[in-house]
Amino acid sequence: MASLELNDVRKSYGDTRVLDGVSLSVEAREFIAFLGPSGSGKSTLLRIIAGLETLDEGEVWLEGRRIDPLPPGARDVAMVFQHYALYPHMTVRENMAFGLRNARVPKAEIESRIAQAARVLEIEEQLDKKPGQMSGGQRQRVAIGRAIVKQPKLFLLDEPLSNLDAALRNRTRVELAQLRQRVDAALIMVTHDQAEAMTLADRMVVMNDRRIQQVGAPMDIYARPVNTFVARFVGSPAMTLAPGEIVPGTGRHARVRLAGGDEVETRVAREGLADGERVQLGLRPEHVAVTEPEGGIAAEAVLVERLGDRTLVYARLPDGLEVTAQDEGASRIRMGDRIGLRIDGAAAHIFGADGAGHHGEAAP
Ligand code: ADP
Repeated sequence: MASLELNDVRKSYGDTRVLDGVSLSVEAREFIAFLGPSGSGKSTLLRIIAGLETLDEGEVWLEGRRIDPLPPGARDVAMVFQHYALYPHMTVRENMAFGLRNARVPKAEIESRIAQAARVLEIEEQLDKKPGQMSGGQRQRVAIGRAIVKQPKLFLLDEPLSNLDAALRNRTRVELAQLRQRVDAALIMVTHDQAEAMTLADRMVVMNDRRIQQVGAPMDIYARPVNTFVARFVGSPAMTLAPGEIVPGTGRHARVRLAGGDEVETRVAREGLADGERVQLGLRPEHVAVTEPEGGIAAEAVLVERLGDRTLVYARLPDGLEVTAQDEGASRIRMGDRIGLRIDGAAAHIFGADGAGHHGEAAP
């Protein structure tokens, strides 16, 4: 059964349209990430679901009940904010109990829920401390604990990891992944960090320009981005988009002539692409290999990034096109070297004149 349903949600601030017809269906116990650049409306959508913001048009349903007319406290959702929003003068226990006391949950029930949440989050030792005596990571767990004790049907997390330093962020990310196994509710997390979305979410909702651009499992979106925005936004470093045109012919697969004259045979079906159509060839770094200058498309290495297990080579073609390529960890390439690039056409994507993505038959 669908847990959350958004039907054609619209929202403006004054004359500025922020959400332009957003519809989405979230399954029970699903972990969803809203991913998009700053200003794409992610937080506004989350706040509309939480009831902290009103919508202009549309409906929000949670487990068969329409909730958009209800006040936040009556919606069965719990929100975890980026800035933990803990009461500094209260202990962890009191912070977690506060909302439940206001909701007149019996004392024994409050105690048992706090004990259970503390166990799940491994903060049993911290219950009598005040937030000021805790680390950022511990405070974030308390904020999550405060949401857990409400036993909501839906958790909403607004950039839950962005205040943590890199090491703690990785650890908390693992903890969030474990947490979702232990709670019987759907989770929606807002993030602008695609690694966070890719690693945690069952499905990502990629937003831009007031709309949902694509909804899907992280690897499906990575392999089959619907348009150039999603193609560039998901994946790091970003996919190279090389301008070119479709070579006229009768083969089953499209052949693209790049601006510099080199041709790439793809596994993308020709159907739906016109002879001579101006397109962009989409290349992930892992699909462009570095060879000797004679062995491929001539280029210059303008920047070399050694990541240990692999090396990223930012290359420039004579016509100025910049292509991100990948070499082995022990790459000998140095900045300024003349190199050759070998494109794995079988893995290339094509974006038509209208920006829509066409993908190879073998795309995973
Ligand atoms: P995101 O979370 O993706 O960064 P937001 O939902 O916060 O995006 O914001 C979407 C757009 O709405 C932005 O252009 C932002 O400036 C605008 N906005 C957000 N909240 C308000 C508000 N309370 N009043 C006016 N404009 C707002």
